[in-house]
Amino acid sequence: MKYGRTYNFSAGPAMMPEPVLEEIRDEMMNYRGSGMCVMEMSHRSKVYQQIFDEAEQDLRDLMGIPDNYKVLFIQGGATLQFSMIPMNLMKNGKAVYIETGAWSKKAIAEAKKVGEVIVAASSKDKNYSYVPDCSDLDIPDDADYVYICENETIHGSTYPKLPNTKGHVLVSDQSSMFLSKPCKVSDYGLIYAGVQKNVGPAGMVVVIIREDLIRDDLTDLPIYLQYKTHADNGSMYNTPNCWAIYACGKVFKYLKSIGGLTEMAKRNEDKAKVLYDFLDSSKLFKGTVEKGDRSLMNVPFVTGDADLDAKVVAYTKAAGFDNLKGHRSVGGLRASIYNAMPKEGVEALVECLKKFEAENS
Ligand SMILES: *Cc1c(COP(=O)(O)O)cnc(C)c1O
Repeated sequence: MKYGRTYNFSAGPAMMPEPVLEEIRDEMMNYRGSGMCVMEMSHRSKVYQQIFDEAEQDLRDLMGIPDNYKVLFIQGGATLQFSMIPMNLMKNGKAVYIETGAWSKKAIAEAKKVGEVIVAASSKDKNYSYVPDCSDLDIPDDADYVYICENETIHGSTYPKLPNTKGHVLVSDQSSMFLSKPCKVSDYGLIYAGVQKNVGPAGMVVVIIREDLIRDDLTDLPIYLQYKTHADNGSMYNTPNCWAIYACGKVFKYLKSIGGLTEMAKRNEDKAKVLYDFLDSSKLFKGTVEKGDRSLMNVPFVTGDADLDAKVVAYTKAAGFDNLKGHRSVGGLRASIYNAMPKEGVEALVECLKKFEAENS
């Protein structure tokens, strides 16, 4: 690794592509002859508007976002969306949620403050180690939407197949898998992602919303909480997170340059396989999620002995691998291997774990 950088397995904020960081460094003091850093620019300036417009267009190109979807850059992280979604989308005051881990649980708790929540399927019975069958859910006709967290960052599961929503609007939290593979946007009514997991710096969420879901009858809602406000003002009703938009825009261009999301998905599958193959063959370590539902982004694993787990975390840390401690609700270890984690990072980690295993068996 260049610059004395470490393989950072953090769940977020997380690694960014090195070429992107280098470009940002090169533009830091004087962005393309503007005489200023992007941090110092007015969001209403021509030079910034171009940065913004290119970011949106590149994201549209990458995902193939249809024209009848708006792309919004909103602050408040993914967490604010737990509230904004029910506040804006619950017309009949009723929605179906699938509970697959910590993040869908949080979304459920917030939605309950707004209306009726029907948890139509849950994997709570096995500490969220799988994704329940969603092929024939009990969905009331008047449910406003079906909500999923498509990749559970803490528990490490992902949907092998989208739920059958029976014609209802699908809403997805893609925070920890955004842009990790091709996505058919028209399958969804709303997709959102906090960008600090798989794209850029913290403090912003990307919302991709079908235009007909943006309501103009919600004038009693605080202005910032209405999707309409952001849609009508090109995400600049107030000062947006200019820096995050700039950095994310560079990541979008970088992803296009390597061959887009198809190529990214190939690399992610290849990379995750290195770690999962090791876990499947190891006598000491094992993955905590059922095979068919395993995330390509967040890989929780355990030895089965909490003291030994702690020893592994210290051992990997000393060997130069950062942030491998698992979330307290799962225990053990978790390797987050987002887009920007190179395959060499995962290979080096596996070598380190193999060495630990040999020394401790
Ligand atoms: C991190 C995360 C969130 C919360 O993101 P913030 O930007 O910190 O609010 C929500 N959902 C998922 C799946 C996450 O991984």
